[in-house]
Formats: sequence, structure tokens, C-alpha cells
Amino acid sequence: MTDTPHRLPESGPEPKPGILDIAPYVGGKSRIEGVAEPIKLSSNENALGAGELAKEAYQKAIADLHMYPEGRASKLRAAVAEHHQVEPERLIFGNGSDEVFALINQCYLTPGDNIVTGQYGFLAYRISAKANQAEVRLVPEPDFRVDVDALAAAVDERTRIVYVSNPSNPTGSWNSGEEIRRLHAALPPHVLLVIDEAYAEYVTEPDWETAIPLAREANNLVVTRTFSKIHGLAALRVGFGYAPLAVAQAVDRIRLPFNNNIPAQMAAVAALQDEAHQKASRELVQQWRPRLAQAIKGFGFDVLPSAGNFVLVRFPDQRLNAQAADAFLHSKGLIVRPVGGYGLTDALRITVGTEDQNRALLDALSEFAAS
Ligand SMILES: *Cc1c(COP(=O)(O)O)cnc(C)c1O
Repeated sequence: MTDTPHRLPESGPEPKPGILDIAPYVGGKSRIEGVAEPIKLSSNENALGAGELAKEAYQKAIADLHMYPEGRASKLRAAVAEHHQVEPERLIFGNGSDEVFALINQCYLTPGDNIVTGQYGFLAYRISAKANQAEVRLVPEPDFRVDVDALAAAVDERTRIVYVSNPSNPTGSWNSGEEIRRLHAALPPHVLLVIDEAYAEYVTEPDWETAIPLAREANNLVVTRTFSKIHGLAALRVGFGYAPLAVAQAVDRIRLPFNNNIPAQMAAVAALQDEAHQKASRELVQQWRPRLAQAIKGFGFDVLPSAGNFVLVRFPDQRLNAQAADAFLHSKGLIVRPVGGYGLTDALRITVGTEDQNRALLDALSEFAAS
């Protein structure tokens, strides 16, 4: 099946102003024509898949498919609260953390307001901000890294939300605990700071800290996490935010009553308990991330330092450029992620895979470099 193009009738209902200016989000590709099992390194998924405990819990949930979920996701709420040592009533659950961003934007943005984020800030924040007719202020990241002081300086009286992903996607860069505290301290109290920690579990850098303790004491800070990455449950769409109680309660008024389905909730609860799977997933990335970086640099390409389960590779050469690399890898059955949507037309984002996948990637890149 192919997608039908977005076509608008000559007359008929018109979307709100701004909607048609939003470029549709394009996810990582997952197929190559004529290749039965391509190696997919384009969406930062967990190369080990979901853990056995999560799969079993998901399967068990089949018995209750006829029942509506319990509206507050109470089991999952209790499990997350216990795991992260946070107050359950301050948690916001979403259909992926993407929905948490969308709900926050919907709750706090009116037309003419703005959000502030880094130049390479995750597209999900921006799309739903625009859907709420808000302006998106992108602050330069000269070293592919969020400059927290520049973010704070970009805030004005119409700024309602500042978004930072830490570690950041697509660059892989991170901000220290000290920088995040400095940013928070510099923001006026009416501005909500959202720290997206989707890749928290992969970080090894000693200066990185989770913002959860800072959020515990703050009235204007939300920390988000996801089950899509370390837990390998991207298909099930579960993410959450740890928010000030007033924010959680505001969001609760507008979210759909059953925005997390039961099989997903049960799998997520089981995944939290599966420490062996988390450990294996983390170790795979921590072992291969530096190896990939070193090998790829050895081929003559630039690799940005990364704290996530992916690396951003830059191809500064005119001929051996990112587009050519993407096409070459494609011809070898490898799918990686072009990031032109972020203005990074000279780069490809590559997810850390299994050992076999990583070796196949390195073989192909080595061949490309010599071509
Ligand atoms: C993958 C990712 C997420 C997770 O999104 P979900 O909707 O929870 O799957 C959030 N933020 C960033 C920056 C990501 O790369």
C-alpha cells in the first residue's frame, strides 16, 4: 500500500491558521524494496527488542481485551512512582512521551505565545506548538549542543515553555546537571521548563544528572521519560512526565480518558521490573557507541560525542556526502536516518544495533569511504 498524497478540496472546511504550514513528521524508513530483512538503524529503537517479561505481560493482557482501561493507569502509575521514588499523583501518562508534550502544549499555549528550544530541538515539541498557533523560537547550537544561557536569554513575556532534550536527539549531545539547574534558576516562574530524558539510561558522562530531584522541588519543571527506548516498547506508545501537581492536574482535564491501553500498561509494568533486560540493553549501547564512533572516525568522517543509543555522523566531503552515504548504505540493506528536517543536511543519524548489525554497518561505511 502506498500513502495517498495530502490533497485538499477546492472548497470545504479549512484547518485553523498555521496547520497547513506544518511539515508532516516523517519517521525513520523501515523498508527497502527487494530486501526481505533490512537492518534498521533509523529510529533509535532497542536493538535487543522488548524483554521477555514485557512480552509475557502483553500476551496475558489478551484475556481482557474487551475491557476499558482503568482511567488513571493506576498499576503503571504505582510502578513508575516506586521505581523513580516520586509522588504518583504528579505523573502524567501519555501515548508515548510525544503525547505528553502535545498535552502540555495544548494546556499552556495560546495563539501568539512561544516555545523556546535549541536549534536542533526534537521536532515533536515544535509540531504541536505550531498546532496551538504558537511561535517556535530556535536558539543557535553552534557546537551542536544546547547553550542554556542563550535559551534563557531568548525567553520573553510570551514564552510559556522551554524544551530541552537531555541527552538530545538528533545530535546526541547532553547538558550537565549544573547547566540544567542554571537554566531553571534563570527562568521566570511563569515559564514551564520541560526536560526530555528519553535517553537517560544510556548516559555514562559523570556530569549528567537526571532533573527529577530538581523537579521534585519546583513549580515549573516537568521531566519526561519513555518506554520506547531502553525498555524496547516503542510500538506500545507509553511515556510519562513527572510534573508539579498543578500541571499534572491541568493536563488531566484535557487528556483523553483512556490514553494508555491495558496491554501497553501491563508490558510497561513488567519492563520496569526486568532489570536484566535494561542492563543488557544499556551495556550493548555503552560497549558499541565508542567503538562505532572510533571506527567511523577512522574512515574519515566526523562523529559527534553522543550520550544516547545513536551517533550523529557528519560527512563534510563534497563527493562522499551524507546523501551518497545514505544511498550507499541503502544499497547494502542498511537503513539510517537523514536529518535534513533539522537542517543537518550533511549528517546521518545511526542507531547502535546488535553486534552483527554494527559490523555490517562498519563494513559498508568502510567500503563507502574507499569508493
Ligand atoms: C524517542 C524520543 C522520545 C520518545 O518518544 P515516545 O513518544 O515516548 O516514543 C522522546 N524524545 C526524544 C528526543 C526522542 O528521541
